[in-house]
Amino acid sequence: MAANSAAIDPAALTAELVRFPSVTPRDAGAIAHLAHALERVGFACEMLEFAEPGTEKVLNLYARLGKSGRNLCFAGHTDVVPPGNAANWSVDPFAGSVKDGVLIGRGAADMKSAIACFAAATERFVASRGPEFGGSISLLITGDEEAVAINGTRKVLEFLAKRGEKLDASIVGEPTSRKELGDMIKIGRRGSLNGTLTAFGVQGHTAYPHFADNAAHRLVRMLDALTREPIDQGSAQFEPSNLQVATIDIGNPAANIIPDRAKAVFNVRFNDRWTGTTMESWVRERLDRVDGKYELKIQVSGESFLVPRGEVSDKLSRAIEAVTGRKPALSTGGGTSDARFIQRYCPVAEFGLVGETAHKVNERVSINDIEALTKIYSSFLELYFAGR
Ligand SMILES: [Zn+2]
Repeated sequence: MAANSAAIDPAALTAELVRFPSVTPRDAGAIAHLAHALERVGFACEMLEFAEPGTEKVLNLYARLGKSGRNLCFAGHTDVVPPGNAANWSVDPFAGSVKDGVLIGRGAADMKSAIACFAAATERFVASRGPEFGGSISLLITGDEEAVAINGTRKVLEFLAKRGEKLDASIVGEPTSRKELGDMIKIGRRGSLNGTLTAFGVQGHTAYPHFADNAAHRLVRMLDALTREPIDQGSAQFEPSNLQVATIDIGNPAANIIPDRAKAVFNVRFNDRWTGTTMESWVRERLDRVDGKYELKIQVSGESFLVPRGEVSDKLSRAIEAVTGRKPALSTGGGTSDARFIQRYCPVAEFGLVGETAHKVNERVSINDIEALTKIYSSFLELYFAGR
């Protein structure tokens, strides 16, 4: 760890954060370590612990520098997905190893690096502009993004709103770049709906099908009704909505029994033509056309949203172009993120490192990219607080 007077080295801080095995919902010391680094930059840090009944408690951090002016909030998560079989990794996934200019480890891309970059960027910005830059910079860091996201960003936002603390704009540091740093910003996300479908029938002997009613056949017809035609053709800013069957389960141990129930789970990623409710109606309408009894349980984990182009996405694009020479695409593809909660409070855009290896074995980022991302975030701060 750097001495008190030394500036934050974003690659070193990333490696330090990777060494805390903060697999959701465990924090393992990651947030306290980050808070310590932020306090040295001048942030006031608040640890916020939340635990909905029936869930494991989660540690979150809200750090703020400055008391007045517009509050620009950087949002991210220190929790990571499990490494899987560590033997498949070329290094210990929690060692924070650097080899040939590449940092390998769980959370290297998604997204401990972006948090370290933002901390370093703020330090550089404040060093050049002085602490009286006419605004406030905050970090909202959660330990509950990768799993259920109940005790994380959503709760912190509610807590801040309740005490009258306003966010004016936000950047989420998810690894949105596709192939090269700076090629993509996300300005919205598709919604996500999970369906658990059980088709019912009457059990019987396969030799006497007229005395039975095959639930497996019914389920196949129902899944066909859901997948036969495209849901839509997409919209101005979104890809077409898409339904994928994830699993089909009957668990029938005998070849001569007609099953009386058959279950499938599917996931729909839907665009801004739909809400979770209208998407559910679309599904039920198609199932109702198939004869027979079924049960459908729906869980909507996020609605689709789009943040119209504006100051945040424009200034972020300018900062990216200045550092990398690339003009980022403004995309709404991919999975959901905590931006879905933040967009209810203020304009938000997501931008971070190349996410190709996120959640994979040997998750990695380039040290050069970590430095470049720090420059992008600090030039964004310059643009956002220019002349204030
Ligand atoms: Zn992430």
